Amino acid sequence: MNDIILLKQGEIVLKGLNKKAFEQKLMANVQRRLRPYGDFRVYTIQSTVYVEPQNDDADMDGAFEALKTVFGIIALTRAAACEKDKDAIAQKAIEYLAPAMRAARSFKVESKRSDKSFPMTSIQLSQYVGGLLAEAFPDTKVDVHDPELTVELEVRDLAAYVHGDPCPGAGGMPVGSNGTAVTLLSGGIDSPVSSYMIAKRGVHLIPVHFYSFPYTGEAAKEKVLALARQLSVYCGKLRLCVVPFTRIQEEIRDKCPEEYFTILMRRFMMRIADRIAVDNRCGALVTGENLGQVASQTMQAMGVAESVCTLPVLRPLIGFDKEEIIRLARKIGTFETSILPYEDCCTVFTPRHPALRPTVAEAEAAEAALDVAALVEEAVMGTEYVKL
Ligand code: ATP
Ligand code: MG
Repeated sequence: MNDIILLKQGEIVLKGLNKKAFEQKLMANVQRRLRPYGDFRVYTIQSTVYVEPQNDDADMDGAFEALKTVFGIIALTRAAACEKDKDAIAQKAIEYLAPAMRAARSFKVESKRSDKSFPMTSIQLSQYVGGLLAEAFPDTKVDVHDPELTVELEVRDLAAYVHGDPCPGAGGMPVGSNGTAVTLLSGGIDSPVSSYMIAKRGVHLIPVHFYSFPYTGEAAKEKVLALARQLSVYCGKLRLCVVPFTRIQEEIRDKCPEEYFTILMRRFMMRIADRIAVDNRCGALVTGENLGQVASQTMQAMGVAESVCTLPVLRPLIGFDKEEIIRLARKIGTFETSILPYEDCCTVFTPRHPALRPTVAEAEAAEAALDVAALVEEAVMGTEYVKL
């Protein structure tokens, strides 16, 4: 008899007709994430996903940790299996939940019975096990209205299961249930967080990085690969597009007025990202931009940069404070990598006095000496793909 893991679905339960498709996506993502940890059966009953190991070789600790990073799950819990007998269930609850029972000041028991041949009703079973738990842990009071701990008992086909309160899951919606987007991934703190936030809403991501070799070196590229790898813990398999950006930056440096360097460079980033997004049937672009953070993130500058795009630009961090972004970066494990001191292409050729309120007409005039279409084409053609 094996222990199992129970997953509580998040917002999926609110979906009407699409619910089945969302559920299937979630179960496929769960299966994929479980692969390194053994052989599991995964199925859903009434918005709960059951994860059952098929033999004793399964790594339940590893599986449980991994499932905490799957979007679409709001809570998860491990449950201990026992024989379908009232005393075996009580004994299991006393043993398995001892630490939680000692830590809580009050508790209640709730039972579910899908095996209708079980000789007690749910209420009778709850009362019976609750009585024995109260005897075993005299300092923990019964409180059916507002207990600190809820002990749950489930009598199912093959076994009965006992578990305590669940721990929080990753939330959000299953990756792949809300389409695909290109995310512009630099080596900074912000863009891994913006990527995470959009992935959390169920979007499959295609990360794009602009690389200015030799102005930014091998270490800067390794850093972005490391960030993408950390994101893939949440986002599943990713294919990073590394776009050669040096030629474009040199052309801008040689042929355009200095105060427009940054805005012109950002227009190229947006054009290329938009092109890759359209080629891959994406619905949007994602950036880590944040209002007012730097000269290129004024409303005017963002407007001038995005005016070259055909797809909507999502900026999940637009209203965040840096503190809030850093907190999230730490939570998802990208912060330490992001602060490694390697130059990003944005810091190459930075103008001394960037235009703060550029207009589209000014930007167009400033880039008039460039063969924009040819430069975009060359960069797209030179893109290197790295599977993570
Ligand atoms: P980040 O911490 O994400 O680098 P930032 O505050 O440093 O953000 P910028 O450097 O102005 O801001 O970049 C704004 C956004 O443009 C980034 O969040 C990212 O989405 C995108 N971006 C910047 N540089 C690159 C790059 N080299 N490759 C891909 N995207 C980039
Ligand atoms: Mg940056």
